[in-house]
Amino acid sequence: MDSQTGRAQLILALRQQGIRDARVLDVMETTPREAFVGDEFKNKAWENQALPIQYGQTISQPFVVGAMSAALELKGHEKVLEIGTGSGYQSAILSKLCRRVFTIERYRPLLRIAQSRFEQLRLNNIVSKCADGALGWPEQGPYDAIISTCACPTRPDKLLSQLKTGGILVAPVGMGSVQELLRYRLRDDGIFEEEALMDVRFVPLLPGISG
Ligand code: SAH
Repeated sequence: MDSQTGRAQLILALRQQGIRDARVLDVMETTPREAFVGDEFKNKAWENQALPIQYGQTISQPFVVGAMSAALELKGHEKVLEIGTGSGYQSAILSKLCRRVFTIERYRPLLRIAQSRFEQLRLNNIVSKCADGALGWPEQGPYDAIISTCACPTRPDKLLSQLKTGGILVAPVGMGSVQELLRYRLRDDGIFEEEALMDVRFVPLLPGISG
């Protein structure tokens, strides 16, 4: 199957799985996922499945990337924080849905590869650093939206404190191999509304930096 057919089929599948946000679907159709996986997986880049990337990490399943992106309800003007750059694919999708993406990866060699992809694809509104994402990036905050693509063991209070009023945080939360994807929304009265979206499987958020 050529990549054109693969793309069309994937977008159709995402629609059927309930992703309705037209901007998200457009961006997923036009962002070359094959640029974010190693040579041995390029032929699978348009399949609706998670794939291994370097250093034992994974690029999330397109459905999960789409669902999490849509859950952030981005319109285009937002400042977004991402924890867990990984391959950089989710950052690339977000960069076309909002004004600026700040992304944090704890594993330096992975971040370097992702950064070279951002340059190659001229995704100039992504700012990244190697750090422990559990701490967030308070100097650049507060954020309209925050997304974690590694599983937070408990409610991510440090990240929640960097959200603007009306802002949305989406993160897998839990300590097992399956976690709950939660969406928090900071209401005008300072209370966080919490909503469970689905069950997901993410690699755990690990402390400190590495590499
Ligand atoms: N968004 C990625 C998915 C990455 S997998 C993509 O689209 O490819 C999760 C990533 O979170 C891994 O790269 C892992 O190294 C990173 N990670 C784990 N704990 C972290 C932490 N405390 N701070 C920053 N990144 C972390």
